Amino acid sequence: MEPNFLSPLTGSFAMPAAENPTVAMVEAAYRHHGLDWRYINCEVPPERLGDAVRGARAMGWVGFNCSIPHKVAVIEHLDGLGESAQIIGAVNTIVRRGDQYIGENTDGKGFVQAMREVIDPQGKTVVIFGAGGAARAVSVELALAGAKSILVVNRSQKNGQVLVDLLNAKTGTAASLQVWDGVVDIPPGTDIVINATSIGLYPNVDQQLELNLDSLSPHMVVADGIHNPPRTHLIRNAEKRGCRVLDGLGMLVNQGVIGIKYWTGIDVDAAVMRQTLEKIFYV
Ligand code: NDP
Repeated sequence: MEPNFLSPLTGSFAMPAAENPTVAMVEAAYRHHGLDWRYINCEVPPERLGDAVRGARAMGWVGFNCSIPHKVAVIEHLDGLGESAQIIGAVNTIVRRGDQYIGENTDGKGFVQAMREVIDPQGKTVVIFGAGGAARAVSVELALAGAKSILVVNRSQKNGQVLVDLLNAKTGTAASLQVWDGVVDIPPGTDIVINATSIGLYPNVDQQLELNLDSLSPHMVVADGIHNPPRTHLIRNAEKRGCRVLDGLGMLVNQGVIGIKYWTGIDVDAAVMRQTLEKIFYV
């Protein structure tokens, strides 16, 4: 066989970048599947984002992820957007198609893929806490997956209303807003409850949602977007009440699986990626 010392390149642009575990998870998948690919974790300051994208083009990168603070800013450096990235207005995965860089959003897709292992969102009633980037990505994908209704519960009325208006204008799902200014009761007919705020994220692991835990019932599926630590107060409390739960590792792993599929065309083993993260987070 002809030797080939040129590995296809992928990676991530973010700032900060040091605490982002994606490189460990993606490279574990590359190794497991015998792919001689690389994933390079890069710290890119906002004022250098354009240079970084031009550098990736010059070096022929197959694609890359963008994380905080680049998910919206990267769009002006790209050649087009996928359907949900366009609705969400943010990109976390860039894919080279022909000689174009196309922005996709796999955060919400990864979440929905993880959710499908527990419950099909089609026709379901959803309560989501938060209205930031993660809530936007997750709720748009749930709407595209056929959720019946989405109640957005958010601290800032303004941010919550922007998301509700977006869902009502661009998807067929009925969205409404509840301003979060005290302890919230989950309506009894709810099927899926999601924390898409940053509450519970390391190092503030003891911060808890203002939520009446007695309003959770065993028929509900409770999901948390927080992956560090994966076993948040919400996940543990919901388990105690007999709910089925979905932790933030499911979202992180599945957005990675979808991104690798975009880049390599291969369906990688999600379990290998999850085990890598579990070792990192001592689950
Ligand atoms: P944003 O900063 O865009 O949004 C944060 C949201 O949390 C806002 O709705 C904000 O409300 C709300 N919030 C923050 N603090 C509080 C508080 N003390 N009380 C009430 N509401 C609060 O962040 P992102 O949406 O990008 O990220 C949110 C979380 O999702 C992060 O922790 C991130 O780690 C996680 N995430 C996980 C992923 C995964 O793969 N598992 C992927 C992407 C994100 P307000 O509008 O009022 O400010």
